Amino acid sequence: MSAPSSAAVTPIRITRIVAAPLFGESPKGGWSVEIKAEDSIHALIAVHTDAGIIGFGSAFTDGRLVEAALKVLEPLYIGENALEPERVSEKLHQNTFWMGRGGSLTHAISGIDIALWDILGKVTGLSIGRLAGGRYRDRVMPYCSLLMDEPAIMKDEIVRYREQGFRAFKIGWGPFGRRDDERLDEAIVAAAAGALPPGGKLMVDAGASDAYWPNGLKWAMRTADMLADHNVDWFEEAVKPDALEDFVTLRKQSRVPIAGGEVLTRRQSFIPFLVGGAFDIVQPDVTKVGGLSEQRRIAWMAEDFGVRYVGHGWNTALGIAADLQLAAALPNVTLVEYIGGSAYVDNIMTRPFGLDADGLLAIPDTPGLGVALDQDKIARYSPAAAQLFAAG
Ligand SMILES: [Mg+2]
Repeated sequence: MSAPSSAAVTPIRITRIVAAPLFGESPKGGWSVEIKAEDSIHALIAVHTDAGIIGFGSAFTDGRLVEAALKVLEPLYIGENALEPERVSEKLHQNTFWMGRGGSLTHAISGIDIALWDILGKVTGLSIGRLAGGRYRDRVMPYCSLLMDEPAIMKDEIVRYREQGFRAFKIGWGPFGRRDDERLDEAIVAAAAGALPPGGKLMVDAGASDAYWPNGLKWAMRTADMLADHNVDWFEEAVKPDALEDFVTLRKQSRVPIAGGEVLTRRQSFIPFLVGGAFDIVQPDVTKVGGLSEQRRIAWMAEDFGVRYVGHGWNTALGIAADLQLAAALPNVTLVEYIGGSAYVDNIMTRPFGLDADGLLAIPDTPGLGVALDQDKIARYSPAAAQLFAAG
């Protein structure tokens, strides 16, 4: 074999980065103040290069914040080598320490980082899973994430998505824990559990990152007991996201595995939770936490602490595409999150994701993220869609 040519590593330069905020079809969050059609809480990001190659990513935050963050970051990324995602993303983190690290800047860097990995894959001809060290698997099970509702409606929802081929479900938010009615909470869980396919999995998400979450540790302990009686696979955000000590106590006594971490950003934020023993399952969000570079380090850190990693793929098809690549490149990933019925997941790609007969998603092994966006579809949700793809 001949040595690699220097041409293979010739830098390509970032010429501009654009964002396309998504509007109109944001799925409900179950939040106390519900997301409205005119709200932007997700944005697509395109990194353009002097080689004409475009990388795509997405950020889970208001598109106006992403646009402002791109302006702040611009002097740091213009002219940078688009083939060095970890170094360029770290440069952006390190040089914005005093500007609100962990917030909008980190969210925007997440989208940029995903797009840079996409570019590196497109230039080298490798999927991100291979670039991240190799593929442990070709398929992974998506769990369908649904908002909780009254028991009869909940049952119908599970049946509807079960018929689409999903085998694992997570239900959360909605009335759960919010009506001071533990019988209702149990009835919702029982209705969902009764509608599962044979061998199906059910997880429960209290959603304690909601505004003014009213419950504390004792509620979480009683509820964990109830969930264990219904064979629930994990209990997520059962206490407020910052209640580290409560997470530790709950994890020690709960028969159901304890999950959390979706609102934490930056790898450093996860250290006290992992060292303290807060989680059985950690759920960083690749579109908030700092992108694939950061998510990969958190997932490996969790692996070394004996904590399961499951990506919080809630945002867009690109967020899930990124989660799929990491699901390939880590040894113990068994699930990825997949929100049920989101246009931003199911209706922005030329070939939407599809479940196979086993209820699994294939993990692309084509260059970069291995998915193709459809400009016309995105234009339904973003007036800035054309900017993502425009040359020059
Ligand atoms: Mg959650």
